Amino acid sequence: MSDETPICSAKGCRVDAAWVLAWNNPKLHTPERRKTWLACEEHREHLSQFLGVRGFLKDVVLLTEWQSPEAP
Ligand SMILES: [Zn+2]
Repeated sequence: MSDETPICSAKGCRVDAAWVLAWNNPKLHTPERRKTWLACEEHREHLSQFLGVRGFLKDVVLLTEWQSPEAP
């Protein structure tokens, strides 16, 4: 179990993450697979757009409400 604070996935950003972006690349992943990026308030829009234009973005969820499908 880790008590590390999740950090935003944006390049060079060291801010605490507030959002989880769940995405899936249909060329690489099965449809039910979810990859996740973490985002701070500032980068949520930018990262969502990046995934959105590629058609990868599935969900944007508050980190406090996110439950990984793989979590016990
Ligand atoms: Zn950030």
